[in-house]
Amino acid sequence: MNCEHFNFKANVNVARIEHTDNQPMTFSADITINCADCGEKFHFIGVDYGYSPLQPMLSANVLEMRAPIRPGESFVFAGYDKSKIKIIESEEIN
Ligand SMILES: [Zn+2]
Repeated sequence: MNCEHFNFKANVNVARIEHTDNQPMTFSADITINCADCGEKFHFIGVDYGYSPLQPMLSANVLEMRAPIRPGESFVFAGYDKSKIKIIESEEIN
């Protein structure tokens, strides 16, 4: 069967991470995506490996993205340098 991957299944595990060194609690949304029809796993592109409470990172097999999250609505763009927001066209990736 040659699946064209029209339907998807995403799984998100949200983790509450408590630190022992008086650092503030952090949260992470760990995301995996499969084709809902054939089960093919999707890997993430353009993200470094590892874990960080400050930026999305990938598991070593590139199948899980670990995205740091925070509660509340008012955090949008807080702490981000808006001048660094950029859009990269797919032609530039190759
Ligand atoms: Zn498929």
